[in-house]
Amino acid sequence: MATREDVLRELGLTPQWRLRRVSGAGAAVAREVAPANDAEARRARIAMLDRDALVADIAGCTACALCRTRRNTVPGVGDLNARWLFVGEAPGAEEDAQGEPFVGQAGRLLDNMLDALGLARTRDVYIANVLKCRPPNNRTPEPLEVEACLPYLDRQIELIAPRLIVALGKSAASALLDSDASVASMRNRVHRYRDTPLVVTYHPAYLLRTPADKAKAWEDLLFARRTLREVLAASGA
Ligand code: URA
Repeated sequence: MATREDVLRELGLTPQWRLRRVSGAGAAVAREVAPANDAEARRARIAMLDRDALVADIAGCTACALCRTRRNTVPGVGDLNARWLFVGEAPGAEEDAQGEPFVGQAGRLLDNMLDALGLARTRDVYIANVLKCRPPNNRTPEPLEVEACLPYLDRQIELIAPRLIVALGKSAASALLDSDASVASMRNRVHRYRDTPLVVTYHPAYLLRTPADKAKAWEDLLFARRTLREVLAASGA
């Protein structure tokens, strides 16, 4: 369902404007307008960017302190018309060095999981993270960093228009579903991110530490594939 923000944007009415009260004789309410706040204006601006402009904007982003410690921004990789979108947490050291998501050990596991599904990072799959910059020492993203970076992921999702999102781990699931629930409790269900079906599974880095759960992650991916097939069948694709 379209949100109020979607409708306003369609109508060309973002950034949102509000009446500003002005004190003084004869000026109970002035028809003067101002952006509701900088974050809203920034979100609205990002929501209008095309693919190239989005990547350039991410590269120049200074919206949070991670810009001071990053080596490269890591916007994402893959097929820009992919049906599958995999979303992780944030770049690690190798991703920061190369500017590409999931190129370290966890990435190799993700590639193997994709391969087992008959997919590849360049074919019908796009891979992105909630954060586009590496948190120092790979710490968990701070809520303010997630808030600052989410407009980029939102815009990526709009531009790619995937038919299914797979949230890899709790950070991605929490950010996209605005929920603090555990991965275990979110598995095996079809959630929705705006209009797009979303399935939650374990993060590959967690699976490297807890190999006994790899079988559950495989079940999740099979569930995701079934879900995508149903979505495509229902839309006649
Ligand atoms: N972990 C992530 O969540 N993303 C990456 O890109 C690499 C490791």
